[in-house]
Amino acid sequence: MQTIGLGYDSHRFDTGGVLKLGGVEIPHPCGLLGHSDADAVLHAVADAILGAAGHDDIGELFPDTDPQYRDADSTAFVARALAIAGEEGLGAVNCDVTILAQSPKLGTRKQQIKARLAELLSLPTGRVSVKAKTNEFMGFVGQGEGIAVIAAVMLSDTPPG
Ligand code: MG
Repeated sequence: MQTIGLGYDSHRFDTGGVLKLGGVEIPHPCGLLGHSDADAVLHAVADAILGAAGHDDIGELFPDTDPQYRDADSTAFVARALAIAGEEGLGAVNCDVTILAQSPKLGTRKQQIKARLAELLSLPTGRVSVKAKTNEFMGFVGQGEGIAVIAAVMLSDTPPG
């Protein structure tokens, strides 16, 4: 059996701090605002995993009103989502991510994010794609207010061969 999940997340830019995308620190004058480390890539990926497993979003599992998740490392959210899927005998088959950011230009960083996601999902890098788009200066992404991410993850009860 195979199931597919879609995840979406967006965060507003902060006035300072560290920008993390897909568990990778990206050089930029400011990070993203959020209760956790605001890693929009990992949040979208975690939601895609939970979606494929038929569960609710990460906000239900890790409420932003819970002080224990303040500045939390979002890799833990992905690990928890994978564990939940794993309890149902499901594991990730592939992961496809699109990052919408007017800035920074992600260029070579995409390969770093891809490698980190592959590691977090226990997948070969050939089963992970990380794409980046500007929003052609339109809307909140295009105006540089924040970053949005769309992710799809397929789960299977048969390990990828
Ligand atoms: Mg988020």
